[in-house]
Amino acid sequence: MSSRIDQIVAAHIKRFKTNDPFKIAAANNIMVKFWTFSNNEVFGIYRYERRNRFVFINRNLPISQQIFTCGHEVFHALYHTRMNTLFLSKNTLYPVGRFEREASEYSTKLLLYGISKNSDMTKESVCKEYGIPYEMQQYM
Ligand SMILES: [Zn+2]
Repeated sequence: MSSRIDQIVAAHIKRFKTNDPFKIAAANNIMVKFWTFSNNEVFGIYRYERRNRFVFINRNLPISQQIFTCGHEVFHALYHTRMNTLFLSKNTLYPVGRFEREASEYSTKLLLYGISKNSDMTKESVCKEYGIPYEMQQYM
């Protein structure tokens, strides 16, 4: 049975013809900025200001984690539009509420879309390869 998030991911892939969260952001006029945060525990931030949607991504993260963070923040921009949110690194990732879980589930499923579940790779190695925090294995 597919979850609500599975259905959203499939709809986005079909509509935007990509699983690249940067392209999905661009297609939706979501502004993405790369940022140096004073606190390096911050993965990213989503802000809603004067009807504009801004995603800030920690530019000091490895590129693969920047992509994951972009997917997470893009979900907030599209589905939690009027909230301002902060996405923190694994040390402080939990406990998190429903909105954070949805955003992370979306980004995980978006990035792994089309990857065979029968692959020989362990979930840990898939996470490592795609820059997905290990905590996200619950969504795989
Ligand atoms: Zn978040």
